[in-house]
Amino acid sequence: MADIRVEGLRKEFKDVVALDDVTFAFADSQVTCLLGPSGCGKTTLMRIIAGLERPTGGEVYFGDQRVTHLPPRKRNIGMVFQYPVVYRGISVAENIELPLKSEKLSKQERAQRVEEVVHLLGLGASVDKDITQLDNGTRQKVAVARAVARQPRIILFDEPITNVDAEAKLQLKRAFKELTRRLEQTIVYVTHDQTEAMTLADQIALMNEGRIAQCDAPRALYNRPADRFGGWFLGNPGMDFFDAELGPGDGTGRGGATLASPLFGAPLRVGGLPPGAGRTVTVGIRPEHVRVAPAAGADGRGPLAVEGELLRKSISIGRQYLLGLRVGDRTFKAKVAPAVGEALPASGPVLVELPLNRVALFGTDGRRLDATLTPAGAGLPVAAGTA
Ligand code: ATP
Repeated sequence: MADIRVEGLRKEFKDVVALDDVTFAFADSQVTCLLGPSGCGKTTLMRIIAGLERPTGGEVYFGDQRVTHLPPRKRNIGMVFQYPVVYRGISVAENIELPLKSEKLSKQERAQRVEEVVHLLGLGASVDKDITQLDNGTRQKVAVARAVARQPRIILFDEPITNVDAEAKLQLKRAFKELTRRLEQTIVYVTHDQTEAMTLADQIALMNEGRIAQCDAPRALYNRPADRFGGWFLGNPGMDFFDAELGPGDGTGRGGATLASPLFGAPLRVGGLPPGAGRTVTVGIRPEHVRVAPAAGADGRGPLAVEGELLRKSISIGRQYLLGLRVGDRTFKAKVAPAVGEALPASGPVLVELPLNRVALFGTDGRRLDATLTPAGAGLPVAAGTA
């Protein structure tokens, strides 16, 4: 198949910079999800790869071939859009076969291709139906089948399940997972929905303001966001952030810094700070990593636990409890397992602990700092956010 590379890609729409010097490789035979908030440039990047949009600057390569100025039909790509591109008045099988008629394939080969994709997408019960008899989700499956049957080297999906109802969404997500697992093509999948990206992607390219902020396997991206944006955008809800000032020296005589905050029950040593790191940092932690316990259960209290106040408790999707907390003058969120949430009062005093292996530090530029954190006076340092 082919990897896709874009080099120094820039796209301006009058005074809007939609893509700002994007250099990136989409791995061969992998599913890469372009994920990011509305307006970050996902669709523009995909449309340039497809040849539907000309870049203002930069190049696009499929394998060794420069395709920047090739029209879409010469790129050997399949595309699936938000709204299914299908023809009314003909059957599902005919819809899938139609684009194959312009390829040099025998009738038998065409029938075989149709049969394969019908099977792959679970469309068996619908093959002879007219498109108008199908619901939106099944129509989108037909559109996917049409794109896949041609066996292009690259398949591009642009938010293909945005416009279907919740039940069809779930069904399509499952079908796509199975499909993408079996296909050997290079797949680019645009979405603003992080659970969709987490489910489908081999790697997620997280976009922000016309740039690719980070690219990683879904879990790695979630666990180790490269900047505050990744911490904030991923997760439901995203990371809690607290500003903190570092103090001088870490008490070891080897330089470093200290971090004293009402959020930690003891001052911390901060080691391994990169040269030039400022004294102001942001502490980040995912709400599901915050530990919360009833104030009365102080027996197993860790050395870093602090007294806090539970402001709100509500049940979220998945029966986890979403908590609103206050420690000192900081308010933030936590998400805890059902058993933990049930043991907590509706509001009032609680114990709160931020486990150091789950804590991330960010510099004033928003980038993650690869630092180690240890309770002052304790033994081995813990690399921030290594869990
Ligand atoms: P969404 O999820 O909302 O589709 P996106 O991440 O796909 O967002 P793009 O559609 O690529 O973002 O848009 C990136 C920026 O370029 C936005 O500010 C958008 O308004 C602008 N833009 C995109 N297409 C055009 C166009 N044809 N003319 C003018 N501006 C455009």
